Amino acid sequence: MSNKTRSKTVNRSENKRAKAKALRYSPKALPDFPKCGLQGRPYQPYQCESHLTMRDIKYFHKTFDTNTTKIAQDSFQVSYCKIENPKRKHTPTDSVNNKLKSITIKYTVKGSHGGLVPVCREAFLGILSIEKYRVLRVLKKFKVTGQLPHETRGGNRITNKNDAKNGKMKTFIESLRCTESHYCRSKSTE
Ligand SMILES: [Zn+2]
Repeated sequence: MSNKTRSKTVNRSENKRAKAKALRYSPKALPDFPKCGLQGRPYQPYQCESHLTMRDIKYFHKTFDTNTTKIAQDSFQVSYCKIENPKRKHTPTDSVNNKLKSITIKYTVKGSHGGLVPVCREAFLGILSIEKYRVLRVLKKFKVTGQLPHETRGGNRITNKNDAKNGKMKTFIESLRCTESHYCRSKSTE
């Protein structure tokens, strides 16, 4: 195989990867209007249907979709969800898994009027068109580490491969610097 052919193949698969990545974090569906029927009556903490209009929902969905990277979308999710500590007291023997199982998440949606409306999980996921496990994963990670998950897909596939080469190059450049021939000229008697 000639070098020309090989580089073409690489470019094609790089493009495919870039396209798949762009697609993964691009708008997938229109927002769903909440169908839960929660009207925010005294015994219901959520106001999905009574306080949100289709305009609010489209606005919130659009705001989320303007974030086209995983990191930006994760940050968005974290900023509109509040993790509440469980009422039950934990014993020191509780495993991390047990602690995670018992967290409570409060979801809010920002309306086009700027106010925050508490909504149920189904409404939140429907409006943003995201999977339940995605938001749970992001929030649990945030709860445990205090950090947003970083991008683990793709990334730099070449750096590590060339580490040895770079090391040799560095040594070579440093060996050149030591001679300082460029700076010697001014000292020379001409
Ligand atoms: Zn609801």
